[in-house]
Amino acid sequence: MSNNKVEIIPLGGIGEFGMNCMGIRYGDEMIIVDAGMGFPEETPYGVDISIPNFDFLEEYRDDMTAIILTHGHEDHIGALAYILKKFNLPVYSSAFTLALTEKRLVEFDMLDDVLMHRVEANDIVEIGNFKVEFIHASHSLVECFSLAIHTPIGTIIHTGDYKIDDTPVIGKPYDLETLGRIGDEGVLALLCDSTNATVPGRTPSEMAVIPAFEEIFEQTEGRLIVSTFSSSLHRLQIVFDVAHQFGRKVCVLGRSMLKNIEIASDQGLLKIPHGLSVDLSLARKLADDEICYLVTGSQGEMRAALWNLATGSYKGMEVEKGDTVVLSARIIPGNEKNISRLIGNLYKRGANIIEEKRRLVHVSGHASQGDIKIMVETSKPRFVIPIHGEYRMLFRQKEFIKNHVGSYSDDDIILIENGNVLELGENSAVVVEKRELFKTFIDEESSEAIEYDVVRERKKLAYGGAISLVVAMEKNTNTVNGEPQVTFEGVAGIDPLNGFSAKARKSIADAIHSMKPDHIANRTMFKENLRIHLKRFIQKELSSKPVIVTTVIEV
Ligand SMILES: [Zn+2]
Repeated sequence: MSNNKVEIIPLGGIGEFGMNCMGIRYGDEMIIVDAGMGFPEETPYGVDISIPNFDFLEEYRDDMTAIILTHGHEDHIGALAYILKKFNLPVYSSAFTLALTEKRLVEFDMLDDVLMHRVEANDIVEIGNFKVEFIHASHSLVECFSLAIHTPIGTIIHTGDYKIDDTPVIGKPYDLETLGRIGDEGVLALLCDSTNATVPGRTPSEMAVIPAFEEIFEQTEGRLIVSTFSSSLHRLQIVFDVAHQFGRKVCVLGRSMLKNIEIASDQGLLKIPHGLSVDLSLARKLADDEICYLVTGSQGEMRAALWNLATGSYKGMEVEKGDTVVLSARIIPGNEKNISRLIGNLYKRGANIIEEKRRLVHVSGHASQGDIKIMVETSKPRFVIPIHGEYRMLFRQKEFIKNHVGSYSDDDIILIENGNVLELGENSAVVVEKRELFKTFIDEESSEAIEYDVVRERKKLAYGGAISLVVAMEKNTNTVNGEPQVTFEGVAGIDPLNGFSAKARKSIADAIHSMKPDHIANRTMFKENLRIHLKRFIQKELSSKPVIVTTVIEV
């Protein structure tokens, strides 16, 4: 690379939701911002998690110096264990974010091998040529940062996830003062969250949901069940506070929520009045108007508490007629069907449901257009680079800034994609390289990475099913023992009675009969010829394309 240039290299999170990860390189040093997981919308084949392809970083192995985590959401920290397995780098983040990651690293038995640096807002950490300044950011989670990355050629601001919240429930408002000071000193580039770039106006404060919750608690006579994201700490605090105010105890159900509440309470972030929180056995003894259940599963996840409550599969508790269920969350794209099924199950049980559409029981944690305007006007960057979001959102952020903020032209706002290398000079921003990046998929059962080929194979199996051919050969001779066996699973167009198997058996037997002895003696060649023959036979007989498995055994 040329001297005096900074390279921006996104591995994920650009042109898609989730999997946020970015390399920022100057000279022969590179820092990584975030290592998140993604939730692919097409999730059959035993895969429901993807991570960035960290093999891509292999060529930078000697350059990488640190991983910096902006905040603790899974789409920013969920792939941390996987990147650390490949590259043992020190990790910098807030106490709360680190506590969340520790939980994961323990699962991978890696905690002792990782060097963690706890930082606070306004800290400046020197990492080689980079000076990283941590700016307090407001978001749906707590202890979040925007980063000012000072390099020898200029300062780059990475917003992380943020909204400009003047009245968060926990912690301070977004630190516009520090951002403004850095803006006055000069900012080369702003990497800016685009998730809500299509939404006009300002994103409401976390406080905005309080009136609706107060009304609901005031009007409800039966049991209350509130479901939200287990990481939405401001929301959890509000539910605890309002429950306390209206004389209800709170019973938390769902492992991830219990764990987050424990960490946040330990760190003094969440404040739960003494005696307010009760366990299930105590909760069941209380009158209907004395209890509020706070539960996981707002996205209809089948392993979460709310789904089990709605289907009678939670031990010791189920949703009943007269219960009021508040879904205090947005629908994450891809979860529509699950949520619809969940709501159906709740209605079947006679519950009353309150959703975001009908009452203000949820606000977004991401910057809308009004927030983006404040961000750009305060940091005054030379270039803007939209990040975090589908291409549509990146594009709309560019359009919005061009049309509504200061004097930015087409050339000042750079749209990039995963695998691009964007070279920033003191007065230039050019994509100098475009590489194709594949995702890495994670197996649900083992948490191990699985190859792209395996997923492709599973996809083929799902679409075409499988046909298996077993041929038994006499040892040391080239004679077939008995008939070739043909079995099939999930193949359209055949059933045990329509004669397909018999026809296939005969066709294979005929084919073997006409093969030269030395072609049969070479078992590898024999097996491949059998596969090709069976494939042609299937093409002739069927319209589907099953996966073919051939086996030659010797008896
Ligand atoms: Zn977030």
